[in-house]
Amino acid sequence: MPETVLLHIDGKEIPAADGGTFEVRSPADGTLLFDVAAATAADVAAAVAGARAAFADQRWRGIRARDRARILNRAAALLGERIDEYARMETLQIGRPLREMRAQLKRLPEWLEYFGAVAQTDEGRVPDFGSGHLNVVRRVPLGVAGLITPWNHPLLITMKKVSAALAAGNSLVIKPSELGPVVPHHLAVLLEEAGVPAGVVNVVPGFGATAGKALSEHRGLAKLDVTGGTETGRVIAANAGRALIPVTAELGGKAPVIVFDDVDVDAAVAGILFAAFIATGQTCVQGARVLVARERYDAVVDALVSRTRALRLGDPLDPQTQIGPLVSQAQRNRVAGAVDRAVTQGATVLCGGRVPAGTSLARGWFYEPTVVADVTPEHDLWHEEVFGPVTTVTAVSSEAEAIGLANDCPYGLAASVWTRDIGRAIRVSEQLDVGIAWINDHHRIDPSSPWGGAKDSGIGSENGLESYRAYTRQQSLVIKSAGEPFDWFATADEIRYS
Ligand code: NAD
Repeated sequence: MPETVLLHIDGKEIPAADGGTFEVRSPADGTLLFDVAAATAADVAAAVAGARAAFADQRWRGIRARDRARILNRAAALLGERIDEYARMETLQIGRPLREMRAQLKRLPEWLEYFGAVAQTDEGRVPDFGSGHLNVVRRVPLGVAGLITPWNHPLLITMKKVSAALAAGNSLVIKPSELGPVVPHHLAVLLEEAGVPAGVVNVVPGFGATAGKALSEHRGLAKLDVTGGTETGRVIAANAGRALIPVTAELGGKAPVIVFDDVDVDAAVAGILFAAFIATGQTCVQGARVLVARERYDAVVDALVSRTRALRLGDPLDPQTQIGPLVSQAQRNRVAGAVDRAVTQGATVLCGGRVPAGTSLARGWFYEPTVVADVTPEHDLWHEEVFGPVTTVTAVSSEAEAIGLANDCPYGLAASVWTRDIGRAIRVSEQLDVGIAWINDHHRIDPSSPWGGAKDSGIGSENGLESYRAYTRQQSLVIKSAGEPFDWFATADEIRYS
């Protein structure tokens, strides 16, 4: 029997208003895992109303920051105890290998701890208003934030947003992806166990076209925060624009991986594999365009192809598995279609490029890790986010050519630069139109380190002090300290009024 997952509104587990549900199936073998309540617009409205009531009566924002941080730290400890359980659920739902999910989830308590610390140490300002007045500027929470999240890191991305938003004292309505809704729901329950009052964190699973749309169009919100595809981000940001509320949008990517001629080939190839194929390539910062110095091109590509061929596809729950299935049939069709189209446009598949043969994987949405050559900026594969285990290799003759090609893309989320020459690493990184540049590494993340993109990769950032501040607004208190009476209309003098 599949487990049932309901809506979480005002601390209560409730079915959808119209009783609707949707199925979550294992992408590895099609097993029915969960029956999930599909929120309607009425459910979303109830969740926003509950969150607004929680904000209005100050049950969370009225708690001193130090005590909010204590509760977040308690939640971090509870989460630490549940990593194995949640990692297994994530793997079942989205098919990412268990080894990866464990490694990722183990870090997540740090987000609650970090933002708890930020909330405690955040201080106001006292601008010089001149004599006679004291001006105190402090940061206050925004209100109800609508969080719309994707499936590829269901808990990590929910956690990035939830920890900053909660630490700042906001109330939340979370619309998790229809492909990975279960663990974000568990997080809401866990936060209440830790002491976050009921009504502050609400979860409305459902589809983008219904629940997501209803949430992003709801006029009761004070902020929208979305991670998803660029087109989804445009729709949600437009809704935020109409409502004149701030938006944070973490969207698509097509990260370049620039490999210079002074690298150790084995180390660089290990880095490219990590960049391109972790999460079966389903990450926004996936190393999708490998640009290699011409002198090292053959050596790097030979080693890359041979190591890619050796990657072990299989049951994502098996600790030996390195590459799991894609999340859905639609996703596999999209990946296969992008590779087939590249071939018709003149690209050469060096390895992979097909659904694996053999019956043991036939029930899942597997696709072989793929390396493609002869792709130029004229090809769709150069510009379009595939979101799968497909990377391209291109020889470059100079630093300037590498930078030009890296920037020749609508996305600007992340890049990595591989070289032993620190001057070159800095020089090149500074010229890349990206939000995150790794040097001799890829994919690294920390709650303190800003994460956000340029160009079509989005607006604003997660993590770090700025993301906390983006969940607050400034409130300026101007307090009269002058002793003399003030009566503008009782005198004709030009006394100061501004
Ligand atoms: P998606 O855009 O299909 O969905 C994201 C979320 O938006 C889901 O909850 C979905 O239900 C909802 N949604 C869809 N249409 C909507 C609409 N019209 N109105 C309101 N909500 C709507 O993305 P996905 O397939 O879940 O995730 C993959 C995408 O996310 C990729 O493009 C990837 O690059 C991006 N991503 C970006 C980052 C980042 O940090 N920049 C991180 C992870 C994923």
